[in-house]
Amino acid sequence: MKDAVLPEALSGVFEPDAAGGPVLIGSHCRECGADHFPPKPACPDCACSTVEPTELPRDGTLHSWTIVRIPAPGIEPPFLLGEIHLPNGLRVTSRLEPGDYELGQTVRLAAGMVRQDDGMGQLTGYFFGVGD
Ligand SMILES: [Zn+2]
Repeated sequence: MKDAVLPEALSGVFEPDAAGGPVLIGSHCRECGADHFPPKPACPDCACSTVEPTELPRDGTLHSWTIVRIPAPGIEPPFLLGEIHLPNGLRVTSRLEPGDYELGQTVRLAAGMVRQDDGMGQLTGYFFGVGD
């Protein structure tokens, strides 16, 4: 079995922090203070290009979720897909680790194998779950 790899498409969006824990990277506008995810090369709110990478909060509130019952490339159904509201106002759509959830529940960013792709081995990515 191949080692888990971080797909190039997620580099700069999902990274390990200094302590090795997962962190989502957004963009922060130095002009208006808005944060965005995924990171943008320019601020969609004020159109300035003075944006910089910023680490997003790991904990969020589960706003909604659904059970996906159709296959996705490399992902066997069923799997959970949720919308998480972060404390800085951002909304992130992400897979959820299997489990039982309640609306308004706190969920935490985690990392792990998110899909199996025969051409690339296991792909590491982010998801949200109940945490430790
Ligand atoms: Zn802005």
